[in-house]
Amino acid sequence: MNPALLEDLFSGVGAAAWGQTAYTALLPHMDAAAQAKAQALCPNPGTVLVAAFPYYAPSGAGNLSRYARGRDYHLVLGKRLGTVCGKLETAFPQNSFVPGVDSSPLPEREAAWAAGLGLRGRNGLVILPPWGSWVFLGTVLTDLPPDFPPAVPSGECLNCGRCAGACPGGALLGGRFDPEKCLSHLTQKKGDLPPEQAALVAAHSMAWGCDICQEVCPYNAAPEQTKLSTFSNDLVENLTLEMVEGATNRSFKAQWGERAFAWRGPGVIRRNLALQGKQKKE
Ligand code: SF4
Ligand code: SF4
Repeated sequence: MNPALLEDLFSGVGAAAWGQTAYTALLPHMDAAAQAKAQALCPNPGTVLVAAFPYYAPSGAGNLSRYARGRDYHLVLGKRLGTVCGKLETAFPQNSFVPGVDSSPLPEREAAWAAGLGLRGRNGLVILPPWGSWVFLGTVLTDLPPDFPPAVPSGECLNCGRCAGACPGGALLGGRFDPEKCLSHLTQKKGDLPPEQAALVAAHSMAWGCDICQEVCPYNAAPEQTKLSTFSNDLVENLTLEMVEGATNRSFKAQWGERAFAWRGPGVIRRNLALQGKQKKE
């Protein structure tokens, strides 16, 4: 795959940066199930292309994480990577090209770092100046073997520790990420939360997600705004209890199905807002 062709294809669908890595470089980060899934999607995987799409757009404080305010990135990137794969299939009719966004068996962040995209943030995120860590990642898995010099893997961030220090649940302490202490994970976790986790959700006014470790990061002090209008127009910043009370999975998806906060249904958001309302009354 000629880099000029890939540059044309990825920039043509709005990616701010792209890179490529050998599939084998990702194996240490994939368990047997993930490897089997990747093999099923693309027998004899050889190369992973990875692309970054910035999404930062100025908006108010709100109780939705910034990534969930615009159109669902799964839909947006899925369509754009589908276009890239269609063109690659035309150029290489004997080969397979499989797009992936988030639910792919590939470890997207590891793919980005192996491909030399941006920096490796201590908060576990890909930091891509000047867009900061406000980037969505998408991949293309292909059976074409790597035919390029290996990229220089991403370097580390400043390691200033602001993210770990500001994290409300201490999810980044000790040099590892603990999802069970992460507000973003907990606001999306189904069912009744154990008291410690419920208290964390109650104490922070987020209906969905958490941006604290991104907001405090120096690389995000003045991020460049996305050029993709789908992530900057028609933003939803806030959800209220009134907006989710009485909603069924079906009605919620009918109203908000094109937003990334809708995939869990209204139940978790209702629970989060109710916990916060109860805390205010106490
Ligand atoms: S806040 Fe500091 S340590 Fe954390 S990701 Fe940003 S630069 Fe790295
Ligand atoms: S998203 Fe929030 S809770 Fe999760 S690690 Fe970052 S600061 Fe901590």
